[in-house]
Amino acid sequence: MIRVKNQAREEHKREVLSAGLLAERFPAVSGIVVRMNYQRGRTSALQRTVNFLPDSPAFFRISCLGEGCEGGGLELTWVIQRMIRERAGSMQGELRCENRDEAILHADVDYSVAITYV
Ligand SMILES: [Zn+2]
Repeated sequence: MIRVKNQAREEHKREVLSAGLLAERFPAVSGIVVRMNYQRGRTSALQRTVNFLPDSPAFFRISCLGEGCEGGGLELTWVIQRMIRERAGSMQGELRCENRDEAILHADVDYSVAITYV
């Protein structure tokens, strides 16, 4: 079990590294702020903010924080790529964790993305 987890973590590390830096992938972007409102079953709503700066990895799958959730996450890659292509400043929506293992309490979130450009 521990071995599987380590492998998942190594895999995740590789994915993050291969994504490159925000400044390299999207030089027109000066910053991205993702705000999430977690709805997690019985747990009261959790507010979470994730900031991306030019030296952050351009990796936009955000952990769902579900206990034991490996390989899932909240996939914002397509949303953010499309926003940058259209030079959009803000966007809102809803997301579910990509991992659908029902033994784990995954997160549903309402999110907003704000992007600032150079
Ligand atoms: Zn999850």
